[in-house]
Amino acid sequence: MTPDEARIALAAVQTRIAKAARTATRDPADTTLIAVSKTHDAEAIRPLIAAGQRVFGENRVQEAQGKWPALQAETPGIALHLVGQLQSNKADDAVALFDAIHSVDRPSLVTALAKAMDKADRRPACFIQVNIGDEEQKGGVAVADLPALLAAARAADLPLAGLMAVPPFDIEAAPFFALLAKLARDQGLAGLSMGMSGDYETAVTLGATHVRVGSALFGQRG
Ligand SMILES: *Cc1c(COP(=O)(O)O)cnc(C)c1O
Repeated sequence: MTPDEARIALAAVQTRIAKAARTATRDPADTTLIAVSKTHDAEAIRPLIAAGQRVFGENRVQEAQGKWPALQAETPGIALHLVGQLQSNKADDAVALFDAIHSVDRPSLVTALAKAMDKADRRPACFIQVNIGDEEQKGGVAVADLPALLAAARAADLPLAGLMAVPPFDIEAAPFFALLAKLARDQGLAGLSMGMSGDYETAVTLGATHVRVGSALFGQRG
């Protein structure tokens, strides 16, 4: 990606977010664009940083550890969000590197993160990931188990930001976004991490506070 291409791609996504927000009488500034840079190397990421993007997402701790410390040293003020599954034995590494974790989905991970945060004295914002389509083999807590997991997260004093979901592939996402928004409202949570390259505008109209956009910014992953 050339610097010009990065600027154009970023402006296009920002414009669409702003338009979707206005449709829903929301303030465009109330949605954070997370540029999901997984699989892309530092060379591919730098043009987007040069274009002004400061919030990035990765789905694997190890991959992020390999490329972000150097990029963060080059440009201060970059926030990193973990959007992929997290193993409990990587909780220390995740807490050290990330500013937000979008994949808290089970009691054992709540415990591991609480312990890691106490140890590091660093408190990344936590989103509870919900298996919003009740799909087998999908990350996220079952909708029925959400209240208990939230209670555990609150008891452990995790800094709870909101809910996150990846709706089922290939069907209309809007009903799932609306359901996630309702669950967050019912639980008194402000943050809603939902919407990817194919559906982030819909997510913004339905209240997304964080959209996770990869290919619309970086091109298709190889
Ligand atoms: C890869 C990924 C994204 C970005 O997907 P695109 O379709 O490339 O925008 C968003 N959220 C999660 C959890 C991901 O793993």
